[in-house]
Amino acid sequence: MVLRDSQGAPPRDVVELSGVTKVHPGGVRALDGVTVGFGRGSFTAVMGPSGSGKSTLLHCAAGLDRPTSGQVVLAGRDIAMLREPKLTAVRRAHVGFVFQSFNLVDSLSLWDNVLLPQQLAGTRPDRKWAAELLTRVGLAGREKARPGQLSGGQQQRVALARALAARPEVIFGDEPTGALDLSTGRAVLALLRRFVDEFGATIVMVTHDPAAAAWADRVVFLADGRIAGELHTPTAEQVAARMMELTR
Ligand code: ADP
Ligand code: MG
Repeated sequence: MVLRDSQGAPPRDVVELSGVTKVHPGGVRALDGVTVGFGRGSFTAVMGPSGSGKSTLLHCAAGLDRPTSGQVVLAGRDIAMLREPKLTAVRRAHVGFVFQSFNLVDSLSLWDNVLLPQQLAGTRPDRKWAAELLTRVGLAGREKARPGQLSGGQQQRVALARALAARPEVIFGDEPTGALDLSTGRAVLALLRRFVDEFGATIVMVTHDPAAAAWADRVVFLADGRIAGELHTPTAEQVAARMMELTR
């Protein structure tokens, strides 16, 4: 329950995009009036053909990029038009990330990698929680190891622990299992699922893999920068069928 609202507030969207349009430099309209919300304690997969705007959606929702127009409400405030360094402050306080390429700092130990986001945010690291997270991801006892000494699956599990360490409002993943083999990827997805079920974490994950999307509560489909439908408690087969329709 650690990530849940201490007042036991009812479920609501922790991230809400309203009419978000993003025109990239060069004129590509990557998002075209996207309205979508991500509920507290939910696991959402974002899917769509290559170039449909998935990464742009994630970046705008996470405050890594600013929309051209529209609203992005994260943790109760509109971040769409926030500028640096305020945007970075909001991100550090409320958002966790998992990337395809892990993005761990090679010169730091596992332990320091996990605590880094809190150090950057200037908050007191919660060492007990960090230790529990490392146990959860199966890496207790490896605190002093460097990322380079670990397999890809182990590195991504460190990245998961790091993403959760500051108890963010929401965790965003851009193809977090994209660089992993099937069984390693499955272990990472099972961990994401458990973080949602046991801790009430909110996860938004871009993937192109229907089997990965089937771990989510909901799949949101994108096509040409627009929402092209969604599926609830999806099966891999249903997701694959929808993707076929979208790419036809
Ligand atoms: P996806 O993740 O679904 O493959 P993206 O969000 O990466 O899609 O890209 C959507 C569209 O926006 C594509 O046409 C892509 O080429 C373009 N695009 C993405 N990022 C940039 C950028 N930084 N500058 C210019 N065009 C971009
Ligand atoms: Mg992408």
